[in-house]
Amino acid sequence: MTIPFVDLHAQYLALKDEIDAAIARTINNSSFVRGPDVEAFEAEYSELMEARHTVSCANGTDALYIAMKALGIKPGDEVITTAQSWISTSETIGQHRAKPVFVDIDPVTSTIDVSKIAEKITSRTVGIIPVHLYGQMADMPEVMAIAQRHNLWVIEDCAQAHLATINGKKAGQFGNIATWSFYPGKNLGAMGDAGAITTQDPALARHMACFARHGGLVKGDHEMEGINSRLDGLQAAILRVKLPHLANWTARRRAVAKRYDEMLADIAQIKTPTEVAGREHVYHLYVVETENRDSLGEFLKTQGIPTVINYKSALPFLPAYAHLGHVPEDFPIAFGLQNRILSLPIFAELNEAQQDSIADAISSFYGVVK
Ligand SMILES: *Cc1c(COP(=O)(O)O)cnc(C)c1O
Repeated sequence: MTIPFVDLHAQYLALKDEIDAAIARTINNSSFVRGPDVEAFEAEYSELMEARHTVSCANGTDALYIAMKALGIKPGDEVITTAQSWISTSETIGQHRAKPVFVDIDPVTSTIDVSKIAEKITSRTVGIIPVHLYGQMADMPEVMAIAQRHNLWVIEDCAQAHLATINGKKAGQFGNIATWSFYPGKNLGAMGDAGAITTQDPALARHMACFARHGGLVKGDHEMEGINSRLDGLQAAILRVKLPHLANWTARRRAVAKRYDEMLADIAQIKTPTEVAGREHVYHLYVVETENRDSLGEFLKTQGIPTVINYKSALPFLPAYAHLGHVPEDFPIAFGLQNRILSLPIFAELNEAQQDSIADAISSFYGVVK
């Protein structure tokens, strides 16, 4: 038996008739870029995420780029972000000729260590981009308190955190802007690239919608120079089929994670993820820590069980940031983590038999008798 890391095909089969009909409808009415499904998806996404405005765009990376543009970022500005994320979070800062200023992570949640933000703030700092990594929210009440004290904007990178909460408040409800990815493997995935930006601020929403659509909402009326970052009609139609299932899928991911927690609890060499009190983790990834990461991963591969490392290198140590001259002591927690983390398969359709075989394989690797 081989188990996929994420079973996109199982999700498609469960919704096949509706997805096929949505695709056929879009092809029949030729609404390939924007169109009625894009408008409807934006409204439905706003409702689910309790945002006044959703601006759809081509992907979650563009969402970050567009959000920073709307907040007035300039060359030479500094933006504080976490040392542990996918490169989109920091590369979009660089795309504006601004500087990413990394902060080490909290050892419990792997999200930005809020106690280390203030020391990184300079006269050039304009904003903070926390990432709700792996599906657990960063300490947003504290991030917002720091931002307010220093008059900084906040963009929440919610690419991995659809429907995550902290004290009952959803991801995306704290910052000036929240950015979302619907990359196929994300908790809400399109069948291609797709992304969105949410905000409560109508002026920011309008500015972002204009910028993403060649600087104008009406064809030919260019209020500014913009970029071309639009959601296509097929993706919007597919996302509209999937959106009503997101809450159930999230509950399933949480149940799978809870079962992993229980099944791996008696393996002393494995540290399972910690869900902090008051935070509802949506388990985009189920990341364990172990000293034997590489040999465990290789062993699981021989058993037909794929694993992934999210991420092989913390951001400050990537060749892309060699010019910043960072050393391991600058980010000891993120540096230590990069050789210990391993992501196990997790998705809504992962069944108990599959999960049993994953847990059994891990137990046998460590010689734990069940
Ligand atoms: C996936 C991801 C993105 C980028 O999304 P794309 O749609 O792939 O461009 C940004 N930030 C984080 C944390 C992500 O995981």
